[in-house]
Amino acid sequence: MTSPAWLESWSPDDGAQRVRDLFGRSFPAVGAPDGVWSAPGRVNLIGEHTDYNGGLALPTALPHRTYVALRRRDDDVVRLASAQAPGELWQTRLADVAPGAVTGWGAYVAGVAWALAKDGHDVSGFDAVVDSCVPFGAGLSSSAALECAVAVALDEVHQLGLAADDAGRAALVSACVRAENEVAGAPTGGMDQAASLRCTAGHALLVDSRPGLSALESGTPVPFDLEPARLTLLVVDTRAEHALVDGQYAERRASCERAASLLGVETLRDVAPEALEGALVALEPHDPDGVLRRRVRHVVTEIARTAQFVALVRDGRVTEVGPLMNASHASLRDDYEVSARELDLVVDSAVGAGALGARMTGGGFGGSAIALVRVEDVETVVTVVQAAFDDAGLTAPGFLLAPPSAPAL
Ligand code: ADP
Ligand code: MG
Repeated sequence: MTSPAWLESWSPDDGAQRVRDLFGRSFPAVGAPDGVWSAPGRVNLIGEHTDYNGGLALPTALPHRTYVALRRRDDDVVRLASAQAPGELWQTRLADVAPGAVTGWGAYVAGVAWALAKDGHDVSGFDAVVDSCVPFGAGLSSSAALECAVAVALDEVHQLGLAADDAGRAALVSACVRAENEVAGAPTGGMDQAASLRCTAGHALLVDSRPGLSALESGTPVPFDLEPARLTLLVVDTRAEHALVDGQYAERRASCERAASLLGVETLRDVAPEALEGALVALEPHDPDGVLRRRVRHVVTEIARTAQFVALVRDGRVTEVGPLMNASHASLRDDYEVSARELDLVVDSAVGAGALGARMTGGGFGGSAIALVRVEDVETVVTVVQAAFDDAGLTAPGFLLAPPSAPAL
Protein backbone atom coordinates (compact mmCIF):
# COMPACT_ATOMS: atom_id res chain seq x y z
CA MET A 1 0.00 0.00 0.00
CA THR A 2 1.25 3.51 -0.81
CA SER A 3 1.79 6.00 2.01
CA PRO A 4 -1.25 8.16 2.81
CA ALA A 5 -1.72 11.42 0.89
CA TRP A 6 -1.58 14.30 3.41
CA LEU A 7 -3.08 17.53 2.07
CA GLU A 8 -0.79 20.12 3.66
CA SER A 9 -1.73 23.76 4.20
CA TRP A 10 0.62 26.57 3.09
CA SER A 11 2.23 29.06 5.42
CA PRO A 12 0.82 32.60 4.96
CA ASP A 13 4.16 33.72 3.50
CA ASP A 14 4.18 30.89 0.99
CA GLY A 15 0.58 31.61 -0.07
CA ALA A 16 1.30 35.33 -0.43
CA GLN A 17 4.43 34.68 -2.51
CA ARG A 18 2.53 32.37 -4.84
CA VAL A 19 -0.13 34.97 -5.67
CA ARG A 20 2.35 37.84 -5.96
CA ASP A 21 4.32 35.78 -8.50
CA LEU A 22 1.17 34.78 -10.38
CA PHE A 23 0.01 38.40 -10.44
CA GLY A 24 3.29 39.50 -12.01
CA ARG A 25 3.06 36.79 -14.66
CA SER A 26 -0.65 37.39 -15.40
CA PHE A 27 -0.64 41.20 -15.48
CA PRO A 28 2.95 42.23 -16.28
CA ALA A 29 1.96 45.74 -17.43
CA VAL A 30 0.04 47.04 -14.41
CA GLY A 31 2.57 47.04 -11.55
CA ALA A 32 2.38 45.37 -8.15
CA PRO A 33 -0.90 44.33 -6.51
CA ASP A 34 -2.36 46.62 -3.82
CA GLY A 35 -2.05 43.73 -1.37
CA VAL A 36 -2.64 40.07 -0.60
CA TRP A 37 -5.65 38.70 1.29
CA SER A 38 -6.76 35.19 2.15
CA ALA A 39 -9.69 33.25 3.52
CA PRO A 40 -10.05 29.73 4.91
CA GLY A 41 -12.09 26.77 3.83
CA ARG A 42 -14.23 25.33 6.59
CA VAL A 43 -15.16 22.05 8.13
CA ASN A 44 -18.54 21.63 9.76
CA LEU A 45 -18.45 19.73 13.06
CA ILE A 46 -22.19 19.12 13.14
CA GLY A 47 -25.43 20.73 11.88
CA GLU A 48 -25.65 19.68 8.22
CA HIS A 49 -28.31 20.91 5.78
CA THR A 50 -29.69 23.05 8.59
CA ASP A 51 -28.64 26.56 7.51
CA TYR A 52 -31.32 26.97 4.83
CA ASN A 53 -33.84 25.69 7.38
CA GLY A 54 -33.14 28.50 9.84
CA GLY A 55 -31.19 26.06 12.03
CA LEU A 56 -27.85 25.64 13.81
CA ALA A 57 -24.45 24.66 12.42
CA LEU A 58 -21.02 24.49 14.04
CA PRO A 59 -18.14 25.05 11.59
CA THR A 60 -14.47 25.78 12.23
CA ALA A 61 -12.03 27.48 9.84
CA LEU A 62 -9.41 25.24 8.22
CA PRO A 63 -5.70 26.10 8.14
CA HIS A 64 -6.12 25.67 4.36
CA ARG A 65 -6.74 29.02 2.67
CA THR A 66 -7.39 30.68 -0.68
CA TYR A 67 -5.02 33.57 -1.40
CA VAL A 68 -5.87 36.60 -3.56
CA ALA A 69 -3.57 39.34 -4.89
CA LEU A 70 -5.66 42.25 -6.14
CA ARG A 71 -5.11 45.68 -7.64
CA ARG A 72 -7.98 48.10 -8.11
CA ARG A 73 -8.58 49.72 -11.48
CA ASP A 74 -10.03 53.11 -12.34
CA ASP A 75 -12.49 51.65 -14.87
CA ASP A 76 -15.09 48.90 -14.33
CA VAL A 77 -13.15 46.06 -15.97
CA VAL A 78 -12.55 42.87 -13.93
CA ARG A 79 -9.72 40.57 -15.05
CA LEU A 80 -8.99 37.34 -13.19
CA ALA A 81 -6.56 34.45 -13.27
CA SER A 82 -6.40 31.38 -11.05
CA ALA A 83 -3.69 28.79 -10.55
CA GLN A 84 -6.57 26.32 -10.44
CA ALA A 85 -7.72 27.37 -13.94
CA PRO A 86 -4.35 27.59 -15.70
CA GLY A 87 -4.04 29.52 -18.93
CA GLU A 88 -7.46 31.14 -18.66
CA LEU A 89 -7.99 34.89 -18.28
CA TRP A 90 -11.54 35.51 -17.05
CA GLN A 91 -12.81 38.96 -17.91
CA THR A 92 -15.97 41.02 -17.58
CA ARG A 93 -17.21 44.56 -16.96
CA LEU A 94 -18.96 45.16 -13.65
CA ALA A 95 -21.86 46.70 -15.56
CA ASP A 96 -22.41 43.33 -17.26
CA VAL A 97 -22.56 41.32 -14.00
CA ALA A 98 -26.08 40.22 -13.08
CA PRO A 99 -27.89 37.03 -12.09
CA GLY A 100 -27.69 34.61 -15.02
CA ALA A 101 -25.37 36.87 -17.02
CA VAL A 102 -21.93 35.47 -16.13
CA THR A 103 -20.66 31.90 -16.04
CA GLY A 104 -17.56 30.05 -14.87
CA TRP A 105 -15.51 30.42 -11.72
CA GLY A 106 -15.18 34.19 -12.14
CA ALA A 107 -18.88 34.47 -11.24
CA TYR A 108 -17.97 33.79 -7.58
CA VAL A 109 -15.53 36.72 -7.67
CA ALA A 110 -17.43 39.25 -9.80
CA GLY A 111 -20.56 38.30 -7.82
CA VAL A 112 -19.02 39.66 -4.62
CA ALA A 113 -18.31 43.04 -6.27
CA TRP A 114 -21.85 43.01 -7.70
CA ALA A 115 -23.39 42.30 -4.26
CA LEU A 116 -21.34 45.00 -2.53
CA ALA A 117 -22.41 47.50 -5.20
CA LYS A 118 -26.05 46.42 -4.65
CA ASP A 119 -25.57 47.22 -0.97
CA GLY A 120 -24.66 50.78 -1.99
CA HIS A 121 -20.87 50.54 -1.82
CA ASP A 122 -18.76 52.25 -4.44
CA VAL A 123 -16.79 49.40 -6.04
CA SER A 124 -14.63 49.75 -9.16
CA GLY A 125 -13.03 47.16 -11.43
CA PHE A 126 -9.91 45.23 -10.48
CA ASP A 127 -7.22 42.81 -11.62
CA ALA A 128 -6.85 39.79 -9.36
CA VAL A 129 -5.24 36.36 -9.19
CA VAL A 130 -5.99 33.46 -6.86
CA ASP A 131 -4.25 30.33 -5.69
CA SER A 132 -5.48 27.91 -3.07
CA CYS A 133 -4.58 24.90 -0.95
CA VAL A 134 -8.24 24.31 -0.03
CA PRO A 135 -9.16 21.01 -1.65
CA PHE A 136 -11.40 21.85 -4.59
CA GLY A 137 -15.03 20.70 -4.63
CA ALA A 138 -14.31 18.48 -1.59
CA GLY A 139 -17.10 19.77 0.64
CA LEU A 140 -14.60 22.03 2.44
CA SER A 141 -15.96 25.17 0.84
CA SER A 142 -13.36 26.35 -1.63
CA SER A 143 -16.17 28.47 -3.10
CA ALA A 144 -16.72 30.44 0.13
CA ALA A 145 -12.95 30.74 0.63
CA LEU A 146 -12.72 32.36 -2.80
CA GLU A 147 -15.66 34.74 -2.22
CA CYS A 148 -14.53 35.73 1.26
CA ALA A 149 -10.90 36.39 0.25
CA VAL A 150 -12.21 38.69 -2.49
CA ALA A 151 -14.65 40.32 -0.06
CA VAL A 152 -11.93 41.34 2.43
CA ALA A 153 -9.72 42.50 -0.46
CA LEU A 154 -12.45 44.78 -1.88
CA ASP A 155 -13.33 45.93 1.65
CA GLU A 156 -9.77 47.14 2.14
CA VAL A 157 -9.01 48.68 -1.26
CA HIS A 158 -12.31 50.60 -1.14
CA GLN A 159 -11.97 51.40 2.59
CA LEU A 160 -15.42 50.08 3.40
CA GLY A 161 -14.32 49.20 6.96
CA LEU A 162 -16.61 46.17 7.13
CA ALA A 163 -13.93 43.58 7.94
CA ALA A 164 -12.94 45.55 11.06
CA ASP A 165 -15.63 44.14 13.34
CA ASP A 166 -17.95 41.18 13.59
CA ALA A 167 -21.10 43.09 12.59
CA GLY A 168 -19.33 44.38 9.46
CA ARG A 169 -18.16 40.87 8.72
CA ALA A 170 -21.76 39.68 8.94
CA ALA A 171 -22.56 42.22 6.20
CA LEU A 172 -19.73 40.79 4.09
CA VAL A 173 -21.21 37.31 4.70
CA SER A 174 -24.51 38.48 3.17
CA ALA A 175 -22.72 39.88 0.12
CA CYS A 176 -20.85 36.59 -0.40
CA VAL A 177 -24.03 34.54 0.00
CA ARG A 178 -25.76 36.67 -2.63
CA ALA A 179 -22.77 36.25 -4.95
CA GLU A 180 -22.99 32.46 -4.63
CA ASN A 181 -26.81 32.18 -4.76
CA GLU A 182 -27.68 34.84 -7.29
CA VAL A 183 -24.63 35.25 -9.55
CA ALA A 184 -22.90 31.85 -9.38
CA GLY A 185 -26.33 30.21 -9.17
CA ALA A 186 -25.57 27.76 -6.32
CA PRO A 187 -28.52 27.66 -3.87
CA THR A 188 -26.42 27.09 -0.71
CA GLY A 189 -27.28 28.42 2.77
CA GLY A 190 -25.06 30.89 4.63
CA MET A 191 -22.99 28.62 6.83
CA ASP A 192 -19.90 28.45 4.60
CA GLN A 193 -19.43 32.19 4.26
CA ALA A 194 -20.12 32.82 7.96
CA ALA A 195 -17.45 30.25 8.80
CA SER A 196 -14.83 31.74 6.48
CA LEU A 197 -15.38 35.33 7.63
CA ARG A 198 -16.31 34.94 11.30
CA CYS A 199 -14.60 31.84 12.75
CA THR A 200 -11.58 32.52 14.95
CA ALA A 201 -8.53 30.44 15.85
CA GLY A 202 -9.18 27.97 18.66
CA HIS A 203 -12.95 28.34 18.28
CA ALA A 204 -15.87 26.87 16.42
CA LEU A 205 -18.65 29.25 15.37
CA LEU A 206 -22.22 28.48 16.37
CA VAL A 207 -24.05 29.73 13.28
CA ASP A 208 -27.72 30.41 13.94
CA SER A 209 -29.62 30.95 10.70
CA ARG A 210 -33.00 31.74 12.30
CA PRO A 211 -34.55 34.49 10.12
CA GLY A 212 -34.47 37.98 11.59
CA LEU A 213 -31.59 37.54 14.04
CA SER A 214 -29.13 40.40 14.46
CA ALA A 215 -25.61 39.97 13.10
CA LEU A 216 -24.25 39.23 16.56
CA GLU A 217 -26.97 36.72 17.41
CA SER A 218 -26.28 34.82 14.17
CA GLY A 219 -22.71 33.84 15.08
CA THR A 220 -21.33 32.91 18.52
CA PRO A 221 -17.75 31.73 19.10
CA VAL A 222 -17.48 28.45 21.01
CA PRO A 223 -14.00 27.62 22.37
CA PHE A 224 -12.98 24.38 20.68
CA ASP A 225 -9.54 23.25 21.73
CA LEU A 226 -9.00 19.53 21.35
CA GLU A 227 -5.41 19.48 22.57
CA PRO A 228 -6.08 19.26 26.34
CA ALA A 229 -8.27 16.23 25.64
CA ARG A 230 -5.46 14.73 23.49
CA LEU A 231 -7.86 14.62 20.54
CA THR A 232 -7.60 15.76 16.95
CA LEU A 233 -10.01 16.31 14.08
CA LEU A 234 -9.09 14.22 11.06
CA VAL A 235 -10.63 15.22 7.71
CA VAL A 236 -10.80 12.66 4.91
CA ASP A 237 -11.35 13.90 1.35
CA THR A 238 -12.92 10.89 -0.37
CA ARG A 239 -12.20 12.36 -3.82
CA ALA A 240 -15.52 10.92 -4.88
CA GLU A 241 -17.12 12.82 -7.72
CA HIS A 242 -20.85 12.89 -7.97
CA ALA A 243 -22.54 14.36 -11.01
CA LEU A 244 -26.04 15.13 -9.72
CA VAL A 245 -25.04 17.27 -6.76
CA ASP A 246 -26.51 20.61 -7.82
CA GLY A 247 -29.95 19.29 -8.64
CA GLN A 248 -30.03 17.15 -5.49
CA TYR A 249 -29.16 20.07 -3.24
CA ALA A 250 -31.90 22.24 -4.73
CA GLU A 251 -34.35 19.34 -4.44
CA ARG A 252 -33.61 18.89 -0.70
CA ARG A 253 -34.05 22.59 -0.15
CA ALA A 254 -37.35 22.62 -2.03
CA SER A 255 -38.65 19.64 0.01
CA CYS A 256 -37.88 21.44 3.25
CA GLU A 257 -39.62 24.60 2.06
CA ARG A 258 -42.67 22.57 1.03
CA ALA A 259 -42.78 20.81 4.41
CA ALA A 260 -42.50 24.12 6.26
CA SER A 261 -45.32 25.58 4.22
CA LEU A 262 -47.54 22.51 4.82
CA LEU A 263 -46.83 22.82 8.55
CA GLY A 264 -47.55 26.56 8.51
CA VAL A 265 -44.11 27.58 9.84
CA GLU A 266 -41.58 30.01 8.36
CA THR A 267 -38.73 27.48 8.47
CA LEU A 268 -38.29 23.97 9.93
CA ARG A 269 -36.39 25.61 12.81
CA ASP A 270 -39.83 26.44 14.16
CA VAL A 271 -40.57 22.73 14.68
CA ALA A 272 -39.28 22.03 18.21
CA PRO A 273 -37.99 18.51 18.95
CA GLU A 274 -41.03 17.91 21.21
CA ALA A 275 -43.31 18.85 18.29
CA LEU A 276 -41.63 16.49 15.80
CA GLU A 277 -44.02 13.53 16.23
CA GLY A 278 -47.05 15.79 15.75
CA ALA A 279 -45.49 17.37 12.67
CA LEU A 280 -44.84 13.95 11.13
CA VAL A 281 -48.47 12.97 11.69
CA ALA A 282 -49.66 16.24 10.12
CA LEU A 283 -47.51 15.62 7.03
CA GLU A 284 -48.71 12.06 6.49
CA PRO A 285 -51.68 12.83 4.18
CA HIS A 286 -49.39 14.89 1.89
CA ASP A 287 -46.54 12.42 1.89
CA PRO A 288 -47.48 9.01 0.44
CA ASP A 289 -43.89 7.77 0.11
CA GLY A 290 -42.62 9.17 3.44
CA VAL A 291 -39.83 11.19 1.84
CA LEU A 292 -40.97 14.53 3.23
CA ARG A 293 -41.20 13.11 6.75
CA ARG A 294 -37.71 11.68 6.57
CA ARG A 295 -36.33 15.05 5.46
CA VAL A 296 -38.10 16.85 8.30
CA ARG A 297 -36.94 14.28 10.87
CA HIS A 298 -33.33 14.83 9.80
CA VAL A 299 -33.53 18.61 10.04
CA VAL A 300 -35.28 18.73 13.42
CA THR A 301 -33.08 16.09 15.06
CA GLU A 302 -29.90 17.55 13.54
CA ILE A 303 -30.61 20.99 14.99
CA ALA A 304 -31.18 19.33 18.39
CA ARG A 305 -27.91 17.36 18.08
CA THR A 306 -26.02 20.55 17.28
CA ALA A 307 -27.36 22.22 20.43
CA GLN A 308 -26.38 19.13 22.47
CA PHE A 309 -22.90 19.09 20.92
CA VAL A 310 -22.36 22.74 21.87
CA ALA A 311 -23.62 22.12 25.41
CA LEU A 312 -21.14 19.24 25.86
CA VAL A 313 -18.22 21.27 24.48
CA ARG A 314 -19.04 24.24 26.73
CA ASP A 315 -19.22 21.84 29.66
CA GLY A 316 -15.67 20.56 28.96
CA ARG A 317 -17.06 17.17 27.86
CA VAL A 318 -15.72 17.08 24.29
CA THR A 319 -14.78 13.40 24.68
CA GLU A 320 -18.53 12.66 24.80
CA VAL A 321 -19.58 14.16 21.44
CA GLY A 322 -18.74 11.07 19.35
CA PRO A 323 -22.21 9.45 19.50
CA LEU A 324 -23.79 12.73 18.30
CA MET A 325 -21.48 12.70 15.26
CA ASN A 326 -22.37 9.08 14.49
CA ALA A 327 -26.09 9.82 14.85
CA SER A 328 -25.72 12.84 12.55
CA HIS A 329 -24.16 10.64 9.91
CA ALA A 330 -26.86 7.98 10.17
CA SER A 331 -29.54 10.66 9.83
CA LEU A 332 -27.86 12.18 6.76
CA ARG A 333 -27.45 8.72 5.24
CA ASP A 334 -30.87 7.23 5.96
CA ASP A 335 -33.30 10.16 6.35
CA TYR A 336 -31.77 12.94 4.27
CA GLU A 337 -30.15 10.55 1.76
CA VAL A 338 -27.15 12.73 0.92
CA SER A 339 -24.34 10.35 1.85
CA ALA A 340 -22.31 8.26 -0.58
CA ARG A 341 -20.67 4.85 -0.45
CA GLU A 342 -17.24 6.45 0.05
CA LEU A 343 -18.44 8.62 2.94
CA ASP A 344 -20.07 5.65 4.67
CA LEU A 345 -16.84 3.72 4.21
CA VAL A 346 -14.77 6.44 5.93
CA VAL A 347 -17.22 6.64 8.82
CA ASP A 348 -17.51 2.89 9.35
CA SER A 349 -13.79 2.18 9.02
CA ALA A 350 -12.72 5.16 11.18
CA VAL A 351 -15.13 4.25 13.98
CA GLY A 352 -14.06 0.60 13.65
CA ALA A 353 -10.43 1.70 14.08
CA GLY A 354 -11.13 3.60 17.29
CA ALA A 355 -12.39 7.07 16.30
CA LEU A 356 -14.70 8.51 18.99
CA GLY A 357 -17.15 9.55 16.29
CA ALA A 358 -17.30 10.26 12.56
CA ARG A 359 -19.64 11.80 10.02
CA MET A 360 -19.83 13.19 6.52
CA THR A 361 -19.36 16.97 6.43
CA GLY A 362 -20.57 19.51 3.89
CA GLY A 363 -23.35 19.00 1.38
CA GLY A 364 -22.67 15.32 0.75
CA PHE A 365 -22.87 13.00 -2.30
CA GLY A 366 -19.08 12.78 -2.06
CA GLY A 367 -16.65 15.30 -0.62
CA SER A 368 -15.25 14.86 2.86
CA ALA A 369 -15.89 13.11 6.16
CA ILE A 370 -14.51 13.96 9.59
CA ALA A 371 -13.42 11.76 12.47
CA LEU A 372 -12.70 12.72 16.06
CA VAL A 373 -9.60 10.72 16.92
CA ARG A 374 -7.27 10.32 19.91
CA VAL A 375 -3.87 11.77 18.95
CA GLU A 376 -2.18 8.41 19.48
CA ASP A 377 -4.72 6.67 17.18
CA VAL A 378 -4.38 8.96 14.13
CA GLU A 379 -1.90 6.73 12.33
CA THR A 380 -4.01 3.62 12.87
CA VAL A 381 -7.22 5.30 11.72
CA VAL A 382 -5.53 6.68 8.60
CA THR A 383 -4.06 3.28 7.75
CA VAL A 384 -7.37 1.48 8.25
CA VAL A 385 -9.36 4.01 6.17
CA GLN A 386 -6.80 3.88 3.40
CA ALA A 387 -6.83 0.07 3.40
CA ALA A 388 -10.63 0.05 3.24
CA PHE A 389 -10.51 2.25 0.11
CA ASP A 390 -7.81 0.03 -1.36
CA ASP A 391 -9.85 -3.12 -0.76
CA ALA A 392 -12.92 -1.52 -2.32
CA GLY A 393 -10.93 -0.55 -5.43
CA LEU A 394 -11.55 3.16 -4.81
CA THR A 395 -9.24 6.12 -5.54
CA ALA A 396 -6.99 6.76 -2.53
CA PRO A 397 -8.46 9.42 -0.21
CA GLY A 398 -6.63 12.56 0.99
CA PHE A 399 -6.13 13.35 4.69
CA LEU A 400 -5.73 16.58 6.61
CA LEU A 401 -5.77 17.73 10.22
CA ALA A 402 -8.07 20.62 11.07
CA PRO A 403 -7.10 22.72 14.10
CA PRO A 404 -9.61 25.63 14.30
CA SER A 405 -7.88 28.44 12.42
CA ALA A 406 -8.10 32.14 11.56
CA PRO A 407 -10.80 33.88 9.50
CA ALA A 408 -10.49 35.87 6.26
CA LEU A 409 -7.99 38.70 6.53
P1 ADP B 1 -16.61 23.44 -2.50
O1 ADP B 1 -17.04 24.81 -2.11
O2 ADP B 1 -17.14 22.39 -1.57
O3 ADP B 1 -15.14 23.30 -2.67
P2 ADP B 1 -18.18 24.12 -4.78
O4 ADP B 1 -18.71 23.33 -5.92
O5 ADP B 1 -19.14 24.87 -3.93
O6 ADP B 1 -17.28 23.13 -3.91
O7 ADP B 1 -17.15 25.18 -5.31
C1 ADP B 1 -16.14 24.82 -6.21
C2 ADP B 1 -16.12 25.86 -7.34
O8 ADP B 1 -15.65 27.12 -6.82
C3 ADP B 1 -15.15 25.49 -8.43
O9 ADP B 1 -15.79 24.66 -9.41
C4 ADP B 1 -14.80 26.86 -8.99
O10 ADP B 1 -15.81 27.32 -9.87
C5 ADP B 1 -14.82 27.75 -7.76
N1 ADP B 1 -13.48 27.91 -7.16
C6 ADP B 1 -13.17 27.66 -5.87
N2 ADP B 1 -11.85 27.91 -5.62
C7 ADP B 1 -11.34 28.34 -6.78
C8 ADP B 1 -10.02 28.75 -7.21
N3 ADP B 1 -8.99 28.77 -6.36
N4 ADP B 1 -9.86 29.13 -8.50
C9 ADP B 1 -10.89 29.09 -9.36
N5 ADP B 1 -12.14 28.71 -9.03
C10 ADP B 1 -12.38 28.34 -7.77
MG1 MG C 1 -19.07 25.51 -2.00
